[in-house]
Amino acid sequence: MTATAPRPADAGDPSFTELVAARPHLALHAQDGLTMDEVPLAAIADAVGTPCFVYSAATIRRRYAALAGALERAGLDARIHYAVKANDHLAVLALIAREGGGADVVSVGELARAVEGGIPPARIVYSGVGKTEAELGEALARGVGQINVESAEELDMIAALAAAGGWRARVALRVNPDVDAGTHPKITTGLAENKFGIPYAEAGALYAHAARLPGIEPVGVAVHIGSQITAMAPFRAAYGRIAELVRGLRGAGLPVERVDCGGGLGITYRDEIAPAPEALAGVLERTLGGLGLRLIVEPGRWLVAPAGVLLASVVLVKAAAPRRFVVLDAGMNDLLRPALYDAWHGIVPLAAADAVAPVSPAEVVGPVCESADVFARARGLPVLAPGARVAILDAGAYGAVMSSTYNARPPAAQVMVEGTRWHVIRPRPPLAALWRDEIVPPFLTGGTGRG
Ligand SMILES: *Cc1c(COP(=O)(O)O)cnc(C)c1O
Repeated sequence: MTATAPRPADAGDPSFTELVAARPHLALHAQDGLTMDEVPLAAIADAVGTPCFVYSAATIRRRYAALAGALERAGLDARIHYAVKANDHLAVLALIAREGGGADVVSVGELARAVEGGIPPARIVYSGVGKTEAELGEALARGVGQINVESAEELDMIAALAAAGGWRARVALRVNPDVDAGTHPKITTGLAENKFGIPYAEAGALYAHAARLPGIEPVGVAVHIGSQITAMAPFRAAYGRIAELVRGLRGAGLPVERVDCGGGLGITYRDEIAPAPEALAGVLERTLGGLGLRLIVEPGRWLVAPAGVLLASVVLVKAAAPRRFVVLDAGMNDLLRPALYDAWHGIVPLAAADAVAPVSPAEVVGPVCESADVFARARGLPVLAPGARVAILDAGAYGAVMSSTYNARPPAAQVMVEGTRWHVIRPRPPLAALWRDEIVPPFLTGGTGRG
């Protein structure tokens, strides 16, 4: 149905026009250049400086509604729990909360953030392979809606905590279905060799064990096979295996009310044929639909990645024949995906004149002292003068959240666009904020030397 169909080999990268046309919130205007919703991105870059992440609120809302609508039209009792790790900014969480969404969190930090953003604990699922006793205790005390258990060892830990605190823990067993998601190895999670989940063959016995534990209420099973998945076959295989497991558990007299279907739905960065939410809803309906289950879906990337861009300025262009290095003021510390996953991101000039000028290949790099600090190789770009600005597309997920201050580079500013208006949602901190919490011990602060 939606296997990744590569463009013809000679098609090359999509043009600026194609990239913009495929993203409804972006447009290229003859006067204003690249705009997001009703706002010229150059105006934001002028006011806030670069590097700067900009998110379209309307785009996140539209995508949430599209997914919710597809699930509803498929007749599923499904809830959307946004995977906070994709973009944990409070404004994004507040937006999801207002749409009625829940959250999927993988640490107590994300749990606290989600609550701070307005998502009630009852609508939060707590996942993660290494939850500490203290974290689990806090999750139980806050009353999270569901804890996804990743091992027999963790189940025992939760049972002991629940008994000690007088809590009743609603748990789902995260099962490893041993299905290849067909995505990048670093974002594959559902293979037996990956650290995630309970081996499929052991899930039945552990579920029965969970049902006998005081303080534990097993509510269902969970599965998450990876990220940026653009084919439906891996989802079909995983959910098919989970349906089989649910029937087996019920056959053994065990109650199963929910299946947490994880996240992983991919998007189009370059020319991948990304599945529509209807395709996912259809697969869910055909595999798990007839079982009277409450379903949970946990999209992260799909909801927020296309909504964000990273604005950067050209510092200088270094001619090193036959190569041309376009050095940006954004680096791998701001957007790690190209360095970590060999990810391809569209790069579009902000100025209208630059966007229509003839292009030739360029190496687009950041200023960080690492050879991996490369955004794109042999990318078609026009002649760009120092100070020219570009937007790196689809940076709304796994962008700011993965950033660091390596090379003593302060975090990029962040902005949210709403219609014709825009709001700074995180100013670029002053340099001194980088060392504000560092302590130089007294033996280094007295006197000027060894004397
Ligand atoms: C990362 C993660 C997600 C979200 O993945 P996306 O690919 O961003 O949709 C959902 N559930 C779990 C358990 C995860 O670890």
